[in-house]
Amino acid sequence: MNSDRRERPGPRVTVIGAGPLGSSLAFRLARSGARVTVVERDRPGCSPESETFAWVNAFSKSPRSFHDLHVEALRALERLNSEVGGGWLHVGGSLHWGDGATGNEFEAFETAVETMRAWGARIVEPSLGELARIEPDLDPESLGGRRPVHIPRGAHVFARQMAGAVLRAGVRDHGVRYRRATADGVETAGGRVTGVRLSGGDVVEADVVMVAAGAASAALTASAGAELRTVSRQPGAFLVTAPSAAELRTVVMAPRVSMRSDGGGRVMIGSSALSHLRGDQVGPDLVAETLDAARAHVPALRGVGVEAIRGGVRTVPEDGRPIVGPDPAVAGLYHVATHNAVTLGPVLAEMVADDLRGLPVAALEPYRPRRFTAPPRDT
Ligand SMILES: Cc1cc2nc3c(=O)[nH]c(=O)nc-3n(C[C@H](O)[C@H](O)[C@H](O)COP(=O)(O)OP(=O)(O)OC[C@H]3O[C@@H](n4cnc5c(N)ncnc54)[C@H](O)[C@@H]3O)c2cc1C
Repeated sequence: MNSDRRERPGPRVTVIGAGPLGSSLAFRLARSGARVTVVERDRPGCSPESETFAWVNAFSKSPRSFHDLHVEALRALERLNSEVGGGWLHVGGSLHWGDGATGNEFEAFETAVETMRAWGARIVEPSLGELARIEPDLDPESLGGRRPVHIPRGAHVFARQMAGAVLRAGVRDHGVRYRRATADGVETAGGRVTGVRLSGGDVVEADVVMVAAGAASAALTASAGAELRTVSRQPGAFLVTAPSAAELRTVVMAPRVSMRSDGGGRVMIGSSALSHLRGDQVGPDLVAETLDAARAHVPALRGVGVEAIRGGVRTVPEDGRPIVGPDPAVAGLYHVATHNAVTLGPVLAEMVADDLRGLPVAALEPYRPRRFTAPPRDT
């Protein structure tokens, strides 16, 4: 494998971080010929800040190009899953009813459904019999007579397993080098990056540096003298039940709670009340209230307690859109930052691999970093 690496003509790329985004980048870039080193301070995908609900969907995403990116994102996850294996992708779609408004994005549920239909999404209104086949663990009585909608093209991801499987496959099959170390900063000389400085003092030399370090990305980018336009850290929490007989197949978006399987009979539960709290801010009353709302829909959860309260951190670009492409001022610094990186990491990684090889990638144009610095156009 080492001789294979030496023969490769591709650029030396160092990726900082091996969450869903960094692992996907490392795999795709190495597969397309780059000589990739990943610097990760923790186990891949296992940083406490990476905790996530990991629902993959194109719901309520606009404009059309952003919706299409999310549609392609599921296909990219399926491609990645079939290449690396590991059982981390679960394509069961989502079920919504009432206002479906458990997340902060679902203000206009009906409008979102109609827009998605107009853009070609398959959205079905299952009968009660069909509902029992789609989600056997859901109590249909708990819907209170409301008709659910099922969006079959959607998934949830076991994100830790994903990051681990993808990085492992990159190392095994495509010569990715994995350094378990903390990156202290990005080294530059004469306006271009030269490498990544590790906390022990070593420098990993690089032609291109990509910072995929989640909440730490902005500070690492600043060390190269560049600015990553992400907003401050946004926490979010959810509950994970103890093992139960419940094994949800879909992501269930009920009026007060969202739920999905977390494997082994565990159910992950989110709600709008939890969605902006840190894990340590979730008190016993909120736990009880959330659990009751979940149990009302999933009888198999009655008598089952909470095993963990998890809290993650969202890193969201200033305008909510991914930031992807070369830094306008620092040569060799290539930005890849996005919210919903479980969803968008693999599709962006495919595009970045093409971009780095000089191929045209029209779908990336709305997301270039220069949008923040370009002078306003004359009218
Ligand atoms: C409550 C909540 C719900 C969410 N729901 C969804 C959802 O439904 N769908 C979805 O797609 N996304 C969702 N997200 C967002 C998603 O979890 C994140 O976008 C994703 O985890 C970010 O992945 P990443 O690889 O960019 O960063 P991270 O997962 O944060 O990984 C960054 C990695 O960089 C490493 N690192 C950091 N600093 C250094 C350093 N100095 N040196 C070396 N390594 C370093 C860390 O250890 C870590 O492994 C949610 C987030 C939250 C908080």
